[in-house]
Amino acid sequence: MNTFANLNLAPELLRALTESGYTLPTPIQTQAIPLVLNGRDLMAGAQTGTGKTAAFALPMLQKLLPHASSSPSPARHVVRALILVPTRELAIQVEASVKAYAKYTHLRSLVVFGGVDIKTQIPSLRAGVEILVATPGRLLDHIEQKTVQLNQVQMLVLDEADRMLDMGFMPDLKRILALLPSLRQNLMFSATFSNEIKKLSSEFLVNPELIEVARSNATSANVTQKVYLVDHADKHALLATLLRGSNAAQALVFTKTKLTASRIARQLQREGFTADAIHGDKSQLERMQALDAFKSGKITVLIATDVAARGLDIDQLPMVINYEIPSAPEDYVHRIGRTGRGGAFGNAVSLVSSDEEKYLLEIEKLIKTQIERVSLPKVELPVAKPAVHAERSVELRMRPAHNTKKPVHDAWFNKPYEPSVTTRIEEVVVSSRPRSQIPALFMPKKTIATDAEN
Ligand code: AMP
Repeated sequence: MNTFANLNLAPELLRALTESGYTLPTPIQTQAIPLVLNGRDLMAGAQTGTGKTAAFALPMLQKLLPHASSSPSPARHVVRALILVPTRELAIQVEASVKAYAKYTHLRSLVVFGGVDIKTQIPSLRAGVEILVATPGRLLDHIEQKTVQLNQVQMLVLDEADRMLDMGFMPDLKRILALLPSLRQNLMFSATFSNEIKKLSSEFLVNPELIEVARSNATSANVTQKVYLVDHADKHALLATLLRGSNAAQALVFTKTKLTASRIARQLQREGFTADAIHGDKSQLERMQALDAFKSGKITVLIATDVAARGLDIDQLPMVINYEIPSAPEDYVHRIGRTGRGGAFGNAVSLVSSDEEKYLLEIEKLIKTQIERVSLPKVELPVAKPAVHAERSVELRMRPAHNTKKPVHDAWFNKPYEPSVTTRIEEVVVSSRPRSQIPALFMPKKTIATDAEN
């Protein structure tokens, strides 16, 4: 049987693994650990949730053990392993894992990323670390300021390499690689295998072993996928209904843009949900607070853009909702990979409007699966009032907080307005469809007063 002990890991690492609750290695760990211990370069195709972090971190720590020192002297703690990741969230997560696995060793790790004051990172760097986890931009800042030395790096990991390329990090990566000793071991992890990834791997890996734990671009069999075909104007109501109706304790909702993420968070908050958004316009502190609140269960809905959510590892996340499906099909795989992790079951629901159906077909082509479509039943209600009244009244109920004389800037409409009952009614029209065509699933339970009735 494959056990961590059979993989010849050191007792201090085995102890930390037992403490982390790991009993058996995952397939990527079984494959990667012996190869890395043997000094091979590696090109690994592994989705998030497969245990890929431990697959590189454990053999890395084992190889660095001879350098572990209890001395406080910075000279005894030089950077020997560099882990480059595309986002701050992933950086934090990876370093937290490294720290947990290194708990019973004297190896030190540190994470540096942009968006926070660089000065706060300098004292820890000066104190000395063996394993540095970094986003490329901030690492270059440190290199320029001469606050980090990379001339002893013997192992380099490029994690989520496909996303690094997507995010335009190639020039930064090349600059960093040029500063590292040429004799080193290189490990590259990527969820997808595009031609660019193959090119990158041929440029910086030496005679690599290729391992893949799942078909590239495959989705987990543990995730039930569904598509709701819905008009764009009805998406929010459907989202709220899904959130209320599902048994899922928490849901991660994806949007394409930062603006939509913020808007949905605000709207859900007004409707009584505990919700928050994370995206690139939020400060690092805000993003970390929102993520912590979600992880600890204080908020039940987290709305995120692809970049901000990359690498998020949330235990037991039961549901992912794509408020908008991504135009890059690989992003769909990454998004729904947030649920159904570690053998658990998950649900992935996508709200797809007619203009997005072309992306849906691309996704299905990539994952080689036809996703179940759910069409919403329509109800026939007598249309007592002009359609526009019904639509307006829904928004009146949703936006009571704007009943103020202070000018409010509403990013949704992207213009300032002076809220008053009349103004609000004019501003909030989201659709001109008659009420009788609103899908039954998300008709409001109570009849909502229209402006005429008020
Ligand atoms: P990753 O794919 O590295 O993001 O890991 C996904 C999750 O699986 C993380 O929460 C890890 O702590 C967890 N994990 C990794 N390896 C194991 C293992 N062998 N047994 C149980 N959980 C694991």
